[in-house]
Amino acid sequence: MRCEVVAIGTELLLGQIVDTNSSWIGEQLALAGIDSHFQVKVGDNFARMAAALRQALARSDAVICCGGLGPTQDDITREVIAHIMGVEMRRDEAIVEKIRVMFESRGRAMADNNRRQAEVPLGATVIPQMPGTAPGLICPLGDKVIYALPGVPYELHEMMLGTVLPDLRQRSGQTAVIRSRILRTWGQSESGLAELLADRIEELDGRGNPTLAFQASGIEGIKVRITVKAEDEAAAEEILAAEEAGIRELLGDIVFGVDGETMEHVVVEALRARDRSFAVAESLTGGLMALRLTEIDPAMAVFRGARVAPAERSAASAEERARAAARGIREAFGSDFGLAALHVEAGDAGPSKTVALAIASAEAERTTSIALPGDRRRLRNFAVISLLNYLRLTLSRA
Ligand code: ATP
Ligand code: MG
Repeated sequence: MRCEVVAIGTELLLGQIVDTNSSWIGEQLALAGIDSHFQVKVGDNFARMAAALRQALARSDAVICCGGLGPTQDDITREVIAHIMGVEMRRDEAIVEKIRVMFESRGRAMADNNRRQAEVPLGATVIPQMPGTAPGLICPLGDKVIYALPGVPYELHEMMLGTVLPDLRQRSGQTAVIRSRILRTWGQSESGLAELLADRIEELDGRGNPTLAFQASGIEGIKVRITVKAEDEAAAEEILAAEEAGIRELLGDIVFGVDGETMEHVVVEALRARDRSFAVAESLTGGLMALRLTEIDPAMAVFRGARVAPAERSAASAEERARAAARGIREAFGSDFGLAALHVEAGDAGPSKTVALAIASAEAERTTSIALPGDRRRLRNFAVISLLNYLRLTLSRA
């Protein structure tokens, strides 16, 4: 089973939006063990879209196309597919109704244009998930198939996971399940991780299942992905759990989270579980901490607040000044912990910069210095996650 991806939209060609749909679909296909040899991008043009889809059908068994299912005149994916299938379109009144209800629930009237979205090529079926106004389509062509999905990423994700992948798996006659788990790490380089896991990787390479892969993700740290192929969900889960335990043993507390868990999520939950709170002095990070933390703790129960103000100047060392800032912010907000990060200005030539981190609580004050990448944007983002990680380790080692 070979599956090709065709992303539709002139804005993709012009670089106005990045084609994250294709990369996400590619990742899902790989995880599902489905071969995918081509990804194509094509503008909103009837003849060129038809040519791209014909070429895809000629060399692949299945085609996933995304985009161009909206209500406007330039959304012509439905028409192009009907043309290739050699069929007419019919209006599906049930879909018109669904769209109408969706608009009404948002207190708006459905525009006439939206009726276009209920046009379905004869012989095609509608994908049951429909989080937006665009219905996805399964369009059979002989023993091949085109899936048409909307361009809006979250809509596409739901349809892909809920219908397209199971349908592809069934068509390919594949019964094994492929599952993966991501362990997120902070505090080791990629080569450092590879060294810690070298023996395990060699062992697994010999067996071929499960597999380990690294993914350096900048300010999200380095991810270790475990992928397993098994007979069923339960068997896959068992192997993943065992492998995760083994890797945690080897890596220790540099593993901070699993799958979608971000550093701020992990830290806020750890504090919440202990019924503790914190506040941050943000002279270096300029509000980035507050931005990220209020997103996950909007009630500000754990994250009590931040202050963006210049760090006090004094002759003291950077670590001393960070410590004073952490103490000051803790007192100002009446929180259990106060955090601060300061850029050590003096004597810092070269590509990396030194940052002093400090944590103050009623019981103790801790400081440390770390080297971070020098450009301002990355420096600040790395300072955010480094400072949160420092608090995470302070809590877990207490
Ligand atoms: P809609 O019903 O919203 O019009 P559509 O199927 O017509 O859906 P498009 O108009 O092509 O989809 O795209 C809608 C939005 O989805 C785009 O503005 C863009 O933000 C996002 N999008 C489209 N294609 C992609 C893509 N390949 N990668 C990432 N985002 C995309
Ligand atoms: Mg559109």
